Amino acid sequence: MSGNHIELKSDTQTKPTAGMREAMAAAEVGDEQGFNDPTVTALVERVAGLFGMEAAVFLPSGTMCNQISAAVHCGPGDEFIAERSSHIVGVEAGGASVLARAAPHPVDGVRGVYTAAQAEAAIRPHTRHAPRSRMICIEQTANLAGGTIWPLERIREIVDVAKRHDLKLHMDGARVLNATVETGVSARDYAAGFDSVWVDLSKGLGCPVGAVLAGSSEFIDAAWRWKQRIGGAMRQAGIIAAAGLYALDHHVERLKEDHDNARHFATLIAPLPGLKVEPEHVDSNIVLIDVSGSGHDGGTWSGKLGERGVRMAPIGPTMLRALTHLDVTRDEVEAAANIFRELSGGELAPV
Ligand SMILES: *Cc1c(COP(=O)(O)O)cnc(C)c1O
Repeated sequence: MSGNHIELKSDTQTKPTAGMREAMAAAEVGDEQGFNDPTVTALVERVAGLFGMEAAVFLPSGTMCNQISAAVHCGPGDEFIAERSSHIVGVEAGGASVLARAAPHPVDGVRGVYTAAQAEAAIRPHTRHAPRSRMICIEQTANLAGGTIWPLERIREIVDVAKRHDLKLHMDGARVLNATVETGVSARDYAAGFDSVWVDLSKGLGCPVGAVLAGSSEFIDAAWRWKQRIGGAMRQAGIIAAAGLYALDHHVERLKEDHDNARHFATLIAPLPGLKVEPEHVDSNIVLIDVSGSGHDGGTWSGKLGERGVRMAPIGPTMLRALTHLDVTRDEVEAAANIFRELSGGELAPV
């Protein structure tokens, strides 16, 4: 529950639970940037192990994980291949062009997932005219594309392309644990062959802040230099790392409930007039709702929903995105679906 409204705008809106706050209050702390904070050390070792990587570093945000990875892997004038709707391409204020001084080479996937052939076709020839292709990125799950889970088979094909062309591989694993819980494929298997991979603690895992980036010891050393450079090195960060450890113990398996709630919600609203929703493509905790058939735009829908206590944001002129999470119950998704039913049969009926 989120007080008196139903919070479907984002899984970033989760508030730390009482248990998480207790774990934070009790955390043993030290100087994180001196490697003397035992709670941070426990968290990074745990996440490195989860991904089957040698080492990991605790960072304030997922954006910083993406940006530091790009900066370590790429140099000025380089290009990185990523799906067009991905966070690193469109939601990080062009950071990679500022910090790494590298340019995105966007490819158009299907619901955020592109093919190995597309990745290969996007690799530039080795000439002095072309930018140097340097890194391939995938986003597990593909957020703005509707929370799509990249199938392991497809990931393996992309790894193969990268290895053949000697490119770095980066996984934006903001919601990779949503994928592992849904498919049973381990984080280690998803990350196999990657040079860098991270998980966000502040999304469905329910932490107030933080993300953990993993890779080889050499990569993490280089990442630390960037962390220091851009002001990401912290002090008694065990206070927030404790939330991460708590979330890994208590909030991973339950992600399945979020997926079930998302699918239930999608199934309830799919038949409504003016809405296009594809329950069969709800892989995880994200539902895309195309309202173009209603003749009203996403902003109008979002405003009317807001008046009725349902928070949900448009991600395009006629596309709404709903996310389920720790603070959304089954009853709440049913109540939200009822409000959609009322609006689509009344105020926002197809014009
Ligand atoms: C949220 C998100 C990020 C950025 O994470 P922050 O912790 O908000 O900086 C990056 N990639 C994806 C796919 C995300 O959903």
